[in-house]
Amino acid sequence: TAKNSGKNQYQVYNEQTGNTELRKMELQKDMQWAIEAGQFYVVYQPKWNVQTNSLVGFEALLRWNHPRLGVVSPGEFIPIAEETGLIVSLTKWTLNEACRQCKKWKSRGCVNPISVNISIRLFQTDTLINFVKDVLEKTVLDPHLLELEITESMVFLDIDDIIRQLHAIRSLGVKVSMDDFGTGYSSIGLLDRIPIDSLKLDRLFTNDLETSSKRAIINAILLMASDLNLDVIAEGVESQEQIESLTQLGCNIMQGYYYSKPMKVEEIDPWIKSRVLE
Ligand code: C2E
Ligand code: MG
Ligand code: MG
Ligand code: MG
Repeated sequence: TAKNSGKNQYQVYNEQTGNTELRKMELQKDMQWAIEAGQFYVVYQPKWNVQTNSLVGFEALLRWNHPRLGVVSPGEFIPIAEETGLIVSLTKWTLNEACRQCKKWKSRGCVNPISVNISIRLFQTDTLINFVKDVLEKTVLDPHLLELEITESMVFLDIDDIIRQLHAIRSLGVKVSMDDFGTGYSSIGLLDRIPIDSLKLDRLFTNDLETSSKRAIINAILLMASDLNLDVIAEGVESQEQIESLTQLGCNIMQGYYYSKPMKVEEIDPWIKSRVLE
């Protein structure tokens, strides 16, 4: 009967909620030791310039190899790390790892910058500038080879304070990029005040280029970016058709599965070789 099935649904729902909660608790608990236990690692996704047909950088993306649950995605564990405050040491670790790797590539003659995602939480503690300085000193990396990706959600915080911190970071020579641009919180009204170097067009736009209204929005974003002297990178590029539409609109830098999924360090050399041979 309807009543029974309703009851069953309720139980299933409850069970699922329970599992989610348990999983979250497990992740929360185990994360305390995961850095020391060496369970985190960084994967790298290339950014490609279509006009020059060349590699222009890598984005560092964090992964957690949990001993029982396997590889956990940052979409799941970053929010938990933000809640517990562990995001601070996690960011320190990731920045260090990414800069160390970039320095290694540099010593082999590769001059592509590395981008690291920075949670907006880091701006609340006002420690980011010191982390960045420390890491650059320790890894002896040219500051111009580091880029920080931040998100629009910062418009909810003390914007003047964030602008001050961003100026300090950029005065080191480090670049700043606005990630997932165009989703949710509109920072458009602040773009002429927030000191950044580039915008990353969110996957939502790249995925829906057939819609003329989406094309009109991308067109407007690109015009505005060009006026403000900002580079634009399209994220989530998966097909040749998307690349054609984006280049027609004047966007030349791409990132997405079409070129490569995020790779472990040892996968990168073979990937570069295969691109050159193409
Ligand atoms: P994001 O910075 O916007 O990174 C892009 C995400 O889209 C990555 O997911 C990437 O694997 C995925 N992606 C790239 N190309 C494609 C594509 O062509 N199609 C599809 N469907 N997806 C694509 P990932 O690695 O799971 O990261 C998710 C989010 O987690 C990131 O979004 C970023 O906000 C956050 N994140 C990742 N690493 C870190 C980190 O070290 N620190 C912080 N604070 N956040 C991080
Ligand atoms: Mg990013
Ligand atoms: Mg993004
Ligand atoms: Mg994204």
